[in-house]
Amino acid sequence: MINVKDLHKNFGTVEVLKGINLDVDAGEVVAIIGPSGSGKSTLLRCLNLLETPTSGEIVFEGNVLNDKRTNINQHRQKMGMVFQSFNLFPHKNVLDNLTMTPQLLKKGSKTELEAVALGLLNKVGLEEKASSYPSQLSGGQKQRVAIARALAMNPDVMLFDEPTSALDPEVVGDVLGVMKNLAREGMTMVVVTHEMGFAREVADRVIFMDKGIVQEEGPPEQLFGNPQNERTQSFLSKVL
Ligand code: ADP
Ligand code: MG
Repeated sequence: MINVKDLHKNFGTVEVLKGINLDVDAGEVVAIIGPSGSGKSTLLRCLNLLETPTSGEIVFEGNVLNDKRTNINQHRQKMGMVFQSFNLFPHKNVLDNLTMTPQLLKKGSKTELEAVALGLLNKVGLEEKASSYPSQLSGGQKQRVAIARALAMNPDVMLFDEPTSALDPEVVGDVLGVMKNLAREGMTMVVVTHEMGFAREVADRVIFMDKGIVQEEGPPEQLFGNPQNERTQSFLSKVL
């Protein structure tokens, strides 16, 4: 579904991504771990061209995204993104947060889109919050709304950038639970996370990034149980 080939990203003279190769298959859950500043967010943002790659290629469903002739908006709609900081529309209630963009893009009638949105809210356990405003929700609830909002676009892949890092510990499990269910349903997911338990339990493959390079990757049992790279070992000894 996604093929990243020799991706480089510079900010000014600083090379943040130094040749990333990454393939994500349909239905696969890939967790990206690594120290702060290693380029995880930059990589995720390059995947849907929130950042423009300096060089290399990003192929999504057979289309080279970073080609001037590609209509990026069309493909971006197929990539849901969830950030650490929710980014809900503050002046719209929860239901409108879910229906606004699909409505703008004429994905269906208002009634149809609202029915879909209520179904998604039910899925994330927040149907009763449909008419609440973001300011009336806890961080965990906001993040579950953000996930439902991304799903309302009917994406083929969901990208998560540390979705639980800004949350109080007692609500982290609710959000991870929603993500776990999504994974079980077969959603293709790329998840940057510090939740090693989640990565171990849910990911099909774990990628360890450091200094702008994929230092090691493998199934969770292998990467957590028997890391080969010295940097992976050192990182895991600090976080596990
Ligand atoms: P991570 O998500 O792994 O913590 P990031 O991808 O956010 O790492 O950042 C990697 C490096 O790129 C950091 O040194 C950061 O300061 C730098 N960086 C990220 N975004 C920008 C930007 N827009 N302008 C300049 N430097 C940036
Ligand atoms: Mg980051």
